[in-house]
Amino acid sequence: MDLKYANRTAVVTGGSSGIGLATVRKLLEEGANVALCARTEGRLMDVASVLKRDYGDGRVLARALSVLDPEAMNAFAAEVKQTFGRCDLLVNNAGQGRVSTFADTTDDDWRAEYELKLFSQIHPLRAFLPMLNEAEGAVVAVNSLLALQPEPHMVCTSSARAGVQNLLKSLSVELAPEVRVNSILLGMVGSGQWTRRFAEREDQNQSREEWYGNLARKKGIPLGRLGDPEEAAAAITFLGSHAASYITGAQLEVSGGLSRSI
Ligand code: NDP
Repeated sequence: MDLKYANRTAVVTGGSSGIGLATVRKLLEEGANVALCARTEGRLMDVASVLKRDYGDGRVLARALSVLDPEAMNAFAAEVKQTFGRCDLLVNNAGQGRVSTFADTTDDDWRAEYELKLFSQIHPLRAFLPMLNEAEGAVVAVNSLLALQPEPHMVCTSSARAGVQNLLKSLSVELAPEVRVNSILLGMVGSGQWTRRFAEREDQNQSREEWYGNLARKKGIPLGRLGDPEEAAAAITFLGSHAASYITGAQLEVSGGLSRSI
């Protein structure tokens, strides 16, 4: 299948690690130029120099910034325009989950979580929308199954993620027909928080496969394992591509069958 990424430009927020980084690599392999951002400059620049070595200096642009800073996001968009001249795909991936029950979530926690989940969509979209409109491009948002299947131990993340799905549905109508807006709903992917928890496991002799396998059984994942970042990246790359040209307002579950809804 030709995804037609040659001579296209993609922007990936949170591109220095996990699913974001796997998506950056996949898009570069498919022929796109890629601009990525994340907050921690050292890690981002280390990643960027490896990407430039692997795929060519002129195809990668990296900037350290927070998606919660609209000025920085606007400056990033201007730099992408100057460097690549266009933006065909925006992947809103930056973020993290918050583990807390209602009892131990403060008002400040609620505000911070809603700010992260909603403005990590809103600021990048505002900044890149003129170029996306011009290119008749696409947005792919990385969200979680928690939006449909809330977990009491992640109460504010679940609730904010449901709000994001609602926002994306409105955007898919308002931005049509120029810009398509889709999302993936992740179950458990072996990156980010799961990598950190594996590193802190009680029995340090347990291998990654054993630890992830036990976790998958405990959570009742039908495919019996956590997903790999590359499996999430494949779904993102498809939804952002020409191959998905008649798909907008859709949510694709990437969860190994964890969802019980039809
Ligand atoms: P990682 O922690 O591996 O990567 C997160 C990336 O986002 C990093 O590059 C991080 O870099 C960046 N980031 C975080 N906050 C900001 C910010 N405010 N501005 C810019 N960049 C930011 O996470 P994963 O790859 O596991 O997760 C990717 C996305 O998928 C996240 O939004 C996560 O919530 C979501 N998700 C993941 C699941 C999983 O099982 N892995 C399940 C459900 C959802 P830096 O810290 O330097 O800014």
